[in-house]
Amino acid sequence: MNIQDLIRQNIKALKPYSSARDEFQGVTDDMVFLDANENPFQNGVNRYPDPQQHNVKLLLSKIKNVATQNILLGNGSDEVLDLLFRAFCEPHQDNIITLPPTYGMYEVLANINAVDSIKVNLSERFEPKVDEILSVANKNSKLLFLCSPNNPSGNSFKTSDIETLLNRFKGLVIIDEAYIDFSDEASWLEKLPLYPNLVITQTLSKAYGMAGIRLGICYASADIISVLNRIKAPYNVNELTQLRAIERLEKEEEVAKEIEAIKAQRNLLITELKSIDFISKIYPTDANFVMVKVDDANKRYTQLIEKGIVIRNRTTQPGCENALRLTVGTLEENTKLIKTLVALQAV
Ligand SMILES: *Cc1c(COP(=O)(O)O)cnc(C)c1O
Repeated sequence: MNIQDLIRQNIKALKPYSSARDEFQGVTDDMVFLDANENPFQNGVNRYPDPQQHNVKLLLSKIKNVATQNILLGNGSDEVLDLLFRAFCEPHQDNIITLPPTYGMYEVLANINAVDSIKVNLSERFEPKVDEILSVANKNSKLLFLCSPNNPSGNSFKTSDIETLLNRFKGLVIIDEAYIDFSDEASWLEKLPLYPNLVITQTLSKAYGMAGIRLGICYASADIISVLNRIKAPYNVNELTQLRAIERLEKEEEVAKEIEAIKAQRNLLITELKSIDFISKIYPTDANFVMVKVDDANKRYTQLIEKGIVIRNRTTQPGCENALRLTVGTLEENTKLIKTLVALQAV
């Protein structure tokens, strides 16, 4: 597969904007910077941030065992996903494939970018229908989105299914690993060198506890990363985000402890949910949330809101009739949820 053949013509021909700090990189402390029209009085953020987020990437590179040339950072994974559309999907011509029920942003981004999305619903057990996906794909199918663990169902897809899709789909296969840190399955990162069409997205928003700073990560071949770099906004990750991300990534043990605590809470929550009489099914999960099937999702959703508990109602999603998605909280939060559900049983 030749990645160059997948890139939009106008992007291939693009001459990227060259920022002041792109043109000069040999920064040392004793230099005088009169190139970017900044206010010279120091306050910690008076200078433009590093456009390539070098220090954040170095840490990620060490933690994830991936070269920095295989990493692109964005303002949340949502920006990273948008860059993929803009680099690879010709509006009013190309299409993407999504597997509902899944993360809603793929579809929204397709609409924003005037790109068709072909939907192939997951099976009853929320597994990809591999043959059907391959049979609906055509020469304009540029991106295939695999969310694993999947939001909202919580399950991970089978390795063999993902392998088949990587080998046979003729566009890029994006594995959205937003929840990978809660899963016992291995990340696909170590297989990056094996598949030129593999793109993996991760985020600091979930397991790393930093949804507020907006930092999304894309791992892919150097070819793909370099195309995305050409079209991203020059200073797309701000200085405060870079600093906070570095602080957090330097405390891997603290993150690991929190992940273990959330996984323990998840198991406890599942055990207690089993005793609620209007919950007829608890779906297997590899993420920090649990999808459950109830008697009447709209009714239970409203009842919980009235008790001050906000969850996600997924009942309108394909295969999710009367399904609610519950995020795993702290012991106190989960206890309040369970107590409230117990009290609602009589109603
Ligand atoms: C939460 C989530 C994300 C995270 O998006 P950010 O923009 O990085 O906060 C990405 N993909 C899925 C499937 C998610 O559920």
